[in-house]
Amino acid sequence: STQSPRPSSTHTNGNDTIYALSTAPGRAGIAIVRISGPGCLEIYSALCPGKWNPKHRYAGVRTLYDPSSTTLNILDTDALVIRFEAPKTVTGEDVMELHVHGGPATVKAVLSAIPRCKTSSPVRYAEPGEFTRRAFENNRLDLAQVEALSDTLSAETEQQRRAAVRGNSKVLGRTYEGWRQQLLAARGEMEALIDFSEDQHFDESPAELLSSISAQVNTMLQSIEHHESASHRGELLKRGIRISLLGPPNAGKSSLLNQIVGREASIVSQEAGTTRDIVEVSLDIRGYLCTFADTAGLRTESTPHPGRKLEPVVIGVIEREGIRRAKEKASESDLIIALASVEPLPHGKGWYIHYDAETINLASSASRAVLVVNKCDRLSKDKLMDLLADFKSEVGAKADNTPLVTISCHDALEKSGVNEKDPGNIHYLMTQLVEVFKNMTGLPMEMQDLLGVTERQRQLLSACSEHLDDFLEEGKERDGRECDIVVAAEHLRSAANCLARVTGRGDAGDVEEVLGVVFEK
Ligand code: GDP
Repeated sequence: STQSPRPSSTHTNGNDTIYALSTAPGRAGIAIVRISGPGCLEIYSALCPGKWNPKHRYAGVRTLYDPSSTTLNILDTDALVIRFEAPKTVTGEDVMELHVHGGPATVKAVLSAIPRCKTSSPVRYAEPGEFTRRAFENNRLDLAQVEALSDTLSAETEQQRRAAVRGNSKVLGRTYEGWRQQLLAARGEMEALIDFSEDQHFDESPAELLSSISAQVNTMLQSIEHHESASHRGELLKRGIRISLLGPPNAGKSSLLNQIVGREASIVSQEAGTTRDIVEVSLDIRGYLCTFADTAGLRTESTPHPGRKLEPVVIGVIEREGIRRAKEKASESDLIIALASVEPLPHGKGWYIHYDAETINLASSASRAVLVVNKCDRLSKDKLMDLLADFKSEVGAKADNTPLVTISCHDALEKSGVNEKDPGNIHYLMTQLVEVFKNMTGLPMEMQDLLGVTERQRQLLSACSEHLDDFLEEGKERDGRECDIVVAAEHLRSAANCLARVTGRGDAGDVEEVLGVVFEK
């Protein structure tokens, strides 16, 4: 129904024609093969001999034939062919999509037929990321959009998806390019001053020019700061929130992890110090990607249990190494869950809350932490309240602002349990954790565009702001010494180069290298 003879597009870009399977390999209802480049129409004619080609942005139902066979060997029937004519296409070149039946043999037959079509320029299978690279080179996408595309394609959890779609990469790309142009213009003015100040009259003195540029630079620095902090939040959503489970051996770290995972993720054992290596589990918790590290139990030889006469602790070499790794892990994590537990005093003399002072220290110095007291099933509610009061006064100011949750990893808080629906309080703990996640990653509505700032962009922005700081420093008059305008202009050039690496445009020598890094992903 959509057949119309249209002249072949002349947009060639001098490129090879590339093709690839764009849907995931394997058995499926349909598979989409995408072709981009000047050979699209020739490939069409070879696969669908004698049929009008569908016009721009229209689809046609076609039988696809083997191009090398003289007996009209059918590759697939009822394939859907969609044509897009350059330049308004995803890559900026002629594009054709073949929606074929998704059986592996059909896909294989169609893929192997494409390079056998008679074309006037080479046809080859696309390199990874090559369609996107062409889109970038033909100005259909900027680098921020390319990175956003990569985030969208790799989003596995709901929050990753949201971050990917909310981060407005178009706005970001435009902002970066705007800054770069602003810096280049400023630098141009300064260079004019350097080159011609001796023989021409300028309205502005070097000092005046510097002060007006400094004002612009200050505003830019403030915006860059916003971008940097937003990037950290976006990163937490994308790469996941790293959580360390810390606490003395036997506090129930593995049990808690198993409760959270809902399956056996690390070994639950009664023998102290068995979790010597770090077990990491990636989880989707209500849309947030989290990586839990279940670390070696932390305990210290010198102060086994403050204020209580318990057996001295002897720590072996392997356990010591485990503890060192646990601490290292804790320092790299975004959130610490510090676990303590209700344990019996020797000789049946009652109960106490067993904790590790080092864990509490780590938690109190971490940016985010949650204190959890486990094994609360062992006590009645009143008794538990008394112990918690003692615990809070011992831990004291250190954990003042840290939420405290009491839980049981065993079936129920048998004695102190209140909520039948959430007997071990694990669900409540998760709700508390999700609150913390929200605080860590949230951005006000007006800053949501910035969720798209990637770690790569953040690093370059931070390098850019260092050059801008250097510029401001140079611009300040010190001890009557005038600023060196040549040096100041050089700082602006370096700052603009950082932005060129952010956007992938501009003439900085290493831009090509940057593109390699981004498109490889
Ligand atoms: P980890 O060394 O901190 O990983 O501790 P585990 O998870 O291996 O638990 C140590 C012991 O405490 C095991 O025997 C668990 O069954 C027990 N345990 C864990 N959680 C609870 C709990 O909530 N209540 C009770 N009564 N025992 C628990």
